[in-house]
Amino acid sequence: MSVSPRAHHFTIDLEEYFQVSALEGHVARSDWERLESRVTSQVSLLLELLAKHEARATFFVLGWLAERQVDLVQTIARAGHEIASHGWDHVRVTHQTPRQFRVSVRRSRQLLEDLTGTLVRGFRAPSFSIVPGREWALDVLIEEGYSYDSSLFPVRRPGGSGRYGYPQGLPYPHWLDRPAGRLAEIPPSTLEWFGLRLPAAGGAYFRLLPYGIVRAALRECDRRGVSGTFYIHPWELDPAQPRFAVPWSTRLRHYGGLRGTTRRLDRLLAEFRFTAIEDNLLLSRNSCGAQVAAEA
Ligand SMILES: [Zn+2]
Repeated sequence: MSVSPRAHHFTIDLEEYFQVSALEGHVARSDWERLESRVTSQVSLLLELLAKHEARATFFVLGWLAERQVDLVQTIARAGHEIASHGWDHVRVTHQTPRQFRVSVRRSRQLLEDLTGTLVRGFRAPSFSIVPGREWALDVLIEEGYSYDSSLFPVRRPGGSGRYGYPQGLPYPHWLDRPAGRLAEIPPSTLEWFGLRLPAAGGAYFRLLPYGIVRAALRECDRRGVSGTFYIHPWELDPAQPRFAVPWSTRLRHYGGLRGTTRRLDRLLAEFRFTAIEDNLLLSRNSCGAQVAAEA
């Protein structure tokens, strides 16, 4: 077993199986209240895995969920993990006005800080939806007191019309200098492959592509001396979740490989050392060899 000398970021977008953007057209928001909640048992599984491998993680929590799952959020925080914001109700930034976005990030941060008694430093947009033209969201985050963002996915989606993708973004942690100030950007990891930059950071890519792709991406980060950022959702550990009638492409992307997720996570956590984003961020602020700034 090889253990990386540098800790990578293990991140979880904490939401229910029915709140995923891919299912948006198939599950009405008005149905959220009546649908079965399944998130608790998957979070227990994640907490067990993280404890087994002595890893600390960042949980990007949806405000809507935190309001209904107070104990769960407090359990995660008590287990020593970082609580960050995933916005209030999973509306993508591309579907929000700056005013609506501000309300969402302010309200979710306030609630999460009230529930845990700790500072909320980070934000990740639903579906990585800070895309070119929506950079105003970064300024709003700075103005609202956030220290870092993890929403710019530095890839070009096929056809260029995907829901997310920030092709000009740097593929490693770096500082963003904005009109409103400075913000650390912690992008999900990618893999360079014959001149292409491929998503390799988790989610469907982790479930559907060979395990070696995520491993290669994190090893490349090790070689460069930077931290990689991996992400997963609780529903990705739940093969028994209720299935919605969706087109085959969505079915494959959303429901493919669910049975293997837990085993793959166990392997990943054994092979690499992981921590919460705020740990590396604070480390970089407190030392001259600022990792975050290294790639700026
Ligand atoms: Zn999400």
